[in-house]
Amino acid sequence: MSHRWVACIQGAGHLHEGGAPERRIRNFKTNSIGLIQETQADKFVVWLIGSNETWTVAASGVKEVDILKTGDKYKEKICNICHCLLPVSQFARNQNNKHGIVRRPSCVKCRTDIDKRAPKSSQAKKMEKNRPRRGETFKCPICQKRSIVGITAKIVADHDHHTGNIRDFICDSCNTGLGRFKNGENFLKNAIAYLKERDSLNITKES
Ligand SMILES: [Zn+2]
Ligand SMILES: [Zn+2]
Repeated sequence: MSHRWVACIQGAGHLHEGGAPERRIRNFKTNSIGLIQETQADKFVVWLIGSNETWTVAASGVKEVDILKTGDKYKEKICNICHCLLPVSQFARNQNNKHGIVRRPSCVKCRTDIDKRAPKSSQAKKMEKNRPRRGETFKCPICQKRSIVGITAKIVADHDHHTGNIRDFICDSCNTGLGRFKNGENFLKNAIAYLKERDSLNITKES
């Protein structure tokens, strides 16, 4: 596979459906990042990593990108969700450290989409009444670990990031864990399948 990354500055082209490009021109996210699969006279066939789609686009509608020169230290950065190349100003500042400004990995637009799934306030209020009090003992339903609320563990109200529904109180550590797995069952299933597969491979190797 080629490693020529381009940004589709025009955001239009022919989508490949079942291998062949469609006849009509359609738009997609401007500045989507992709790899050149094939070069034709004045066209490129580009695979877009964000949407996992292949498009034929005009050569004039793309610009080559040195992806190693993108990020907080440069003028442009690639969003980790939409995979568009955008000015760094489109990424909120996270913190400043001694190396300079650190910005969020997702662009402002993608972040607003994430924030939409905040916990439902009516449910959150009800939930607060049952919140384990500081100093009480608590057993996390996920890791089964016992802790003293607010002393040996922070307890948080877990919510479904897709629907905003509140689930239950869990320990902060498990909450971070679920967050890392994008709160999705599929991600967790993949993780379990991966662990099982790797484990069985190791058993075979050792025996
Ligand atoms: Zn984005
Ligand atoms: Zn836990």
